[in-house]
Amino acid sequence: MSDKAYSIQTRLLHNKYKADRQTGAVSVPVQHASTFHQFQFDTFGKYDYGRSGNPTREVLEDTIAELESGYKGFAFASGMAAISTVLTMLNKGDHILITNDVYGGTYRLLTEVLYKFGIDYTFVDMTDMQQVAVNIKPNTRLIYIETPSNPLLKVTDLQGVAKLAKANGCLTVVDNTFLTPVLQRPLELGADIVIHSATKFIAGHSDVIAGLVVVKSEEIAEQIGFLQNSLGSVLGAQDCWLVLRGLKTLQVRLEQSSATAFKLAQWLESRNEVTQVFYPGLTYHPGKPIQTIQASGYGAVLSFELEDKEAVKVFVEKVEIPVFAVSLGAVESILSYPATMSHAAMNKSERESRGITDGLLRLSVGLERYEDIVNDFSTALHWAGKVKGKEIPLANIK
Ligand SMILES: *Cc1c(COP(=O)(O)O)cnc(C)c1O
Repeated sequence: MSDKAYSIQTRLLHNKYKADRQTGAVSVPVQHASTFHQFQFDTFGKYDYGRSGNPTREVLEDTIAELESGYKGFAFASGMAAISTVLTMLNKGDHILITNDVYGGTYRLLTEVLYKFGIDYTFVDMTDMQQVAVNIKPNTRLIYIETPSNPLLKVTDLQGVAKLAKANGCLTVVDNTFLTPVLQRPLELGADIVIHSATKFIAGHSDVIAGLVVVKSEEIAEQIGFLQNSLGSVLGAQDCWLVLRGLKTLQVRLEQSSATAFKLAQWLESRNEVTQVFYPGLTYHPGKPIQTIQASGYGAVLSFELEDKEAVKVFVEKVEIPVFAVSLGAVESILSYPATMSHAAMNKSERESRGITDGLLRLSVGLERYEDIVNDFSTALHWAGKVKGKEIPLANIK
């Protein structure tokens, strides 16, 4: 039952694995075995060794492939394991064109690890198609996109970049962590490979570290399968089960969190203490028109800027609902400070040139009630504003 006539919301629950073939169990069995007995001397069974293949992992890999409209899926021990496995498709001397506003860990992988192996890179503003075009070199083999990006929620035209990539013989790779296949399916827009930190929205409960890759063609699937087995950073069976469990509620979680994020972005805009709000659903956001075309929502992550680090410190100390932590995409709201968390691997001038200032906070909206978050944030902003005398009197706060 993978009939595309059903919506994603239904397919999250009803797919070919909805009931175990042997027992009818409606939850996928967790297969812990590291090795598999071969019943015949000269013909081996489907599974031989747990790194090369595991039945529970296979269910997760098939499920994500189907949801992303891909040819094949792969599960990894983390989002970074997924990203590094994909990038090791490249050879010494190859060049990657990558978005400026990339996840901090990906930035570190390129600048401090892959660089040592002779893989070159150029960071560009991917919202500017001209920049993408002029920076493609003869040895560019891969264009790497994150949209909306982290933490400034910049929107890249997926179809536009994929077209340019194809014309130049490059692969298009998209980190789809922020939107998931529920809101955006890059392979349907021309990309070749989609990557997820499944740690975030897909698993969704802040209780597992996982990564996923989905590829468009058999040829790429063979390469990634070979690398997954060679590098060995596969996802364990128990964690595969946790991700599959999270997937079932992905649509409702994301819908609810995105609706709250939208309202919250508008509310934050109206506050004196907030100097800027970044959310692709806001009318003035330059990426809104493209986002509206290529995705079916704006997501549950927003960023906002306060006056300075001092104001941020007061806000973080006063706010009660969100956890103050690295990560995003969970049932609970997560507030993070990119300067010292996701983008700590970037030096200050590099960071600030990308617009990630000392006043910037990122919020991943969870499932709490909107009114409760607003009340909590009102009070915290009031205190943060006091630092610069910008506060709205508490009595006037709705
Ligand atoms: C968290 C994250 C990653 C890295 O994933 P891990 O599971 O933490 O290894 C990559 N890309 C984006 C956009 C992320 O948010």
